[in-house]
Amino acid sequence: MAKYTVHAGHAAYGNKYSGAVGYCAESVVDRAICKSVISWLQKAGHQAYDCTVDSGLSQSNIITKIKKNINSYSNIECNISIHLNAAAKSKADGKVKGCESLVYSTVSNDSVIANRICLELKALGFTNRGVKARIDLGILKGIKNGGKNVLVECFFCDDQDDYNLFTKVGVNEIGRAIAMGILGRAIPRSGCIKVEIALPVLKKGSFNLEVKKLQQALNIIMNANLVEDGKFGPATELAVKKWQQAEGLTVDGIYGLASYRKMQRYTS
Ligand SMILES: [Zn+2]
Repeated sequence: MAKYTVHAGHAAYGNKYSGAVGYCAESVVDRAICKSVISWLQKAGHQAYDCTVDSGLSQSNIITKIKKNINSYSNIECNISIHLNAAAKSKADGKVKGCESLVYSTVSNDSVIANRICLELKALGFTNRGVKARIDLGILKGIKNGGKNVLVECFFCDDQDDYNLFTKVGVNEIGRAIAMGILGRAIPRSGCIKVEIALPVLKKGSFNLEVKKLQQALNIIMNANLVEDGKFGPATELAVKKWQQAEGLTVDGIYGLASYRKMQRYTS
């Protein structure tokens, strides 16, 4: 058994410094991928700690806080930072821009893992842009828990081809690919935690398993901090409204078809 830290880059959606927004929001998708990577690593028998930070006074303050979380652990095998890339918004042209992994030095054990992650994402169809050295990135230096450090730019959130491929393969396959790259071996698909959203209209007063799934999803994609009890009360309603507003949906607190379709892109 080995120990890992994983975090989503940037503040949470709806806060300042929350990263890139294209066809999807980096901060939302990177959090979902982060949770997925953690669940796959745990499934493979390892310990994985979520070091994500949701808010800060500045971009560098958020990085400082993430590093404080990371450095609070010891004997870590690897620290993984999950991001989405962004360039200029680009409509579908049949070319997936793809993934890259960033390390402090390409002549290092960090780059061995970084390279494996790129190859696993390539197997899902993301163009492999390779491993790149970035001595300027604060998150790749000053980490004292013994771990290797890799930042993964999973795909371009502002490229329609990348986004389409992401919706096709889904968060859980990307999470699995990254976890397999980290470990250097395959993880069987069966039995892994997967958030699924079903179709019925959910609103204040609803009390069923679908509400519980919705609460789980809101907790994963926007850290709503809801009790996952299946009861659609005021806190769940408020979280749904906040999410609807952030997504540009009608803000009515009713989880209907439009909300369901929007949610699918994060949970499929
Ligand atoms: Zn980023």
